[in-house]
Amino acid sequence: MSKGKRQGVDAFENAAMSESKTAPRIDVEFPDLDGYASGNARIAYAWTFHSERPGPHVLLQALTHGNEVCGAIALDWLLRQAIRPERGTLSVVFANVAAYARFDHGDPFASRCVDEDFNRLWTPAVLEGPRDSVELARARELRPLYDSVDYLLDLHSMSEPCVPLAMAGRQRKGVELARAVEIPQHIVIDRGHAAGTRLRDYGPFDDPQDTRNALLIECGQHWEAQAPVVAKQAMLRFLRHFAIVDSSWLEGHLDRARPLPQRVVEVTATVTIQTDEFRFVRPVRGFEMIREAGTVYAVDGDAEIRTPHGDCILVMPTRKPKRGETAVRLGRYVG
Ligand SMILES: [Zn+2]
Repeated sequence: MSKGKRQGVDAFENAAMSESKTAPRIDVEFPDLDGYASGNARIAYAWTFHSERPGPHVLLQALTHGNEVCGAIALDWLLRQAIRPERGTLSVVFANVAAYARFDHGDPFASRCVDEDFNRLWTPAVLEGPRDSVELARARELRPLYDSVDYLLDLHSMSEPCVPLAMAGRQRKGVELARAVEIPQHIVIDRGHAAGTRLRDYGPFDDPQDTRNALLIECGQHWEAQAPVVAKQAMLRFLRHFAIVDSSWLEGHLDRARPLPQRVVEVTATVTIQTDEFRFVRPVRGFEMIREAGTVYAVDGDAEIRTPHGDCILVMPTRKPKRGETAVRLGRYVG
């Protein structure tokens, strides 16, 4: 590596280190979920309400990742409203509560999971395989519920500040669902992660011939005040689209502002970390666009990582690079 580049890397590392000494702001309250522990569907922290009229089974999920509290705030609010479906079935799930219970304001990034990422387990080979972990046990417990669902909304948030993103998967039906919900403004078409399959891509949700569908929404930075607002509005719009709850109640809580026209970004590459020596060589922000093709933005061991095309969007660059995991997804606007 040239001296000039090395100095650039060091300058960035120093900036990153001083930044990491500052604890991130936590501007949201963490709801007490103990009252939901019993569940009502023989699964802890899972609540299912049936209507007498036929209709789809819609599932709303929070805490796929234990420190992503915005969805839990939205679902706690919904359950307190005691809203029941007028048709079909409504399920409300707090997924990785074991990780959530470990949340530590002094080390807030540590409680994403207990043993492993709950959102990388969603193939029969893994779910039915010989391994065990806190997250696999929870996934196996919840799997029969997901197998009965028609439409799933999975509420997430991001480590770094970034505009909210609808992660639509790779099928056309995923984009159609994101468009039907109308928020957030940015929709990302992507294939997930080399490290494992997400719940939003599980079985029928990723089958183009199957009408069942899922949407993952990244509502903003984990602990910013706006993230639960986005989560709540996305949840209300998801319910409105499937018309399973009282529409006048919905209208009373929906934001009246007209959503901005949506834009679709297609992921062109998923950069998976190959060595223990991966680092970004420039400060990177979520959804930042690098105009020039061939710009070096990271190094991985001896390899320089360059933007493969112009107007290249960095979708959710990782905060903590780890071999085998996704460093960043690259994308560009389509349509
Ligand atoms: Zn997440």
